[in-house]
Amino acid sequence: MIVVLKSGVEQEKQAQLIDWLSEQGLQVHISQGEYQTVLGLVGDTTRVDMDLIGSLGIVDSVKRVTEPFKCCNRKFHPEDTVVQVGNVRIGGGHFCMMAGPCSVESEEQIVAVAKAVKASGADMLRGGAFKPRTSPYDFAGLKAEGLELLKIARQETGLPIVTEIMSIVDLHLFEDVDVLQVGARNMQNFDLLRELGKTRKPILLKRGLANTLKELLMSAEYIMASGNEQVILCERGIRTFDDYTRNTLDLAAVPMLHELTHLPVIVDPSHATGINRLVSPMALAAAACGADGLIIEVHNDPIHALCDGAQSLRPEQFDALARKVRTVREVALA
Ligand code: PEP
Ligand code: MN
Repeated sequence: MIVVLKSGVEQEKQAQLIDWLSEQGLQVHISQGEYQTVLGLVGDTTRVDMDLIGSLGIVDSVKRVTEPFKCCNRKFHPEDTVVQVGNVRIGGGHFCMMAGPCSVESEEQIVAVAKAVKASGADMLRGGAFKPRTSPYDFAGLKAEGLELLKIARQETGLPIVTEIMSIVDLHLFEDVDVLQVGARNMQNFDLLRELGKTRKPILLKRGLANTLKELLMSAEYIMASGNEQVILCERGIRTFDDYTRNTLDLAAVPMLHELTHLPVIVDPSHATGINRLVSPMALAAAACGADGLIIEVHNDPIHALCDGAQSLRPEQFDALARKVRTVREVALA
């Protein structure tokens, strides 16, 4: 349920209403916009007397939110959420370029790629240390050592780091990581989502391989219902019947999600296509359709990459793409 307050309501009256709603066992989420304050109510609202609330002098309107996702619902929070990572902002008109290799392989590799993508204008460094692999015999990442190497690359460049967490048992290793990524395969690992909700770290939540947008939003809801509102959604392609590309990039998800939720939405054209030459066109399309950012795999020696070399851009290709993305953004915003 949402309660829209009249503009210019006294703080004291607003606080009294919030206390009264909380006493009824409801969680009250306050969205203080420039022109409007919206109270989002979560919990058993079936016994809440809507007419009584609607009749209060400070209340403009009361509406039931029929969707099962509440905290991430745009009706709860009409203005875009801006996720802040150090000096980097994502959402609400702030565009963020995350770039780096699929996997951290060595100090030389991660530092070289970090320096290159930084020079091209990337805002954040990506790199997997814990890698989910289809085959148990494939390289599964350098794990804790990989996280340490990412921190070295951060120190060398100043770029915040984003890296995947696969299991809650590893959470203590991620204390000094800037953004925790939940990969496509873990989008519905509800225990993991709940635990991440207890942290105050920004979470990059990737859409599952065969999940609907509603399911993606329900997973974001798990994180937010546990108290963490810093969630970035990522469209990374879904399984369809076509197999020319690794996945099918669902770009309509971007404007659709922007309607449904206030959370920032970024696009991963690398995993969506699986093919180096398709990454740039789809990245530009994502920027044109209003994505709040991109996450792109870049490797300094893609042929010898231990994971996802075929979809990795070389640093000079990323540089050319970053320039074009800036141009597309200017046109899209005009
Ligand atoms: C990744 O970003 O390296 C990754 C494994 O992505 P996804 O979970 O989208 O497959
Ligand atoms: Mn990858």
